[in-house]
Amino acid sequence: MIPESARCVKCGLCLAECPTYRLTASELMSPRGRITLVQALAKGAVVPDHHSAEALSSCLLCRRCEVICPSEVPFGQIMDQGLALVRSHQGLKSRLLTAVLPRSGLMRWLLRLGRPVLPLFPRLNKLACQARTSAPIPAPIYRPAASESIGRVGLFVGCTGSLFDSAAIDAAISLLLQAGYEVAVPPKQVCCGALDAHAGNSDKAGRLMATNDAVFASVEELEAVISIASGCGAHLDAYEVLGAKHWDIAAFLAQETVIARLDFRPLPKSAAVHIPCTLENVLHSGDAVMKLLARIPELKAEVVGKKGECCGAGGTGAVLRPEVADRLREPVLRQIVGSSPDFVLSSNLSCRLHLQSVEDERRPEYLHPVTLLARQLIRD
Ligand code: SF4
Ligand code: SF4
Repeated sequence: MIPESARCVKCGLCLAECPTYRLTASELMSPRGRITLVQALAKGAVVPDHHSAEALSSCLLCRRCEVICPSEVPFGQIMDQGLALVRSHQGLKSRLLTAVLPRSGLMRWLLRLGRPVLPLFPRLNKLACQARTSAPIPAPIYRPAASESIGRVGLFVGCTGSLFDSAAIDAAISLLLQAGYEVAVPPKQVCCGALDAHAGNSDKAGRLMATNDAVFASVEELEAVISIASGCGAHLDAYEVLGAKHWDIAAFLAQETVIARLDFRPLPKSAAVHIPCTLENVLHSGDAVMKLLARIPELKAEVVGKKGECCGAGGTGAVLRPEVADRLREPVLRQIVGSSPDFVLSSNLSCRLHLQSVEDERRPEYLHPVTLLARQLIRD
């Protein structure tokens, strides 16, 4: 058992902030209950079974409890250990999802077979149908056209990002080039491992991270490794093994020396900005997104939902526990519908697809914030 779990003094201050506790009022579905369970499993006082597996795997891994906790209990690390202890009792669906989703080649092939391709996962099918399958990752390195580069950064695109969100990848590359950076996109990078870690397969998650570490370490003179989706970023940040310092794309672009190199055309429209839990609670970059959007003249950007509160898509929530995910999504959706924005922006693909899966005739456009920024970018 990691010694830091002893820091939990069972005060319960985290309970009110935990979405699964708020929905169930069950101690076992709270951060405190889950920590106690992991401690008991580690000591052998509780034998793993499907009940303990469900209590741990229903955690959305939003890490809200970590932000609230006055004792700075490292909840994410404790959960990694707990999920590994109950791994053999995880359900079939969770195992299948982990086997299929991170393999973008296999997913691409399944999607080509036509829909529905994954009858066991109706929600995944729905999400896949509304996402536009992207082109494969393009060239491995990009250089600024007009000027000498001021440094080189690596771009981590993620398995589902490379499959479903090439617009955000292209946008991140454009913004970084305009800011004067060379951008390396190593083609041999693999899934960040978050999905495997959530399924308790810490060995495989570790192997994926080691591969990414070697891939980025082989690119010379990297100043930073930048991720686009906050779910991947939160996992990369926790392990700190990449060859250079890891940054979320918004946090990197919002640095004073970088943002000063970016100018945008006016956009007299409105945007509802969803700040994912991973972006706020783990990467602490929600403010960076708002700072960047404020640089687009005439754009009215407002946060919807509470910053750092999970929309229900956390972990594998939207796919494996859709009823819970839908209930958690309601307050955010109410705000979106109430404000009738032109755009809904969210830095995490699974959150965006989850929010977007509701039928709405006045459907706004759902984008990663960098996609909108790149559209308005004034280029050399
Ligand atoms: S995790 Fe932190 S806030 Fe929650 S019960 Fe333990 S010490 Fe208290
Ligand atoms: S990570 Fe989120 S869902 Fe899990 S126990 Fe903490 S607050 Fe609750």
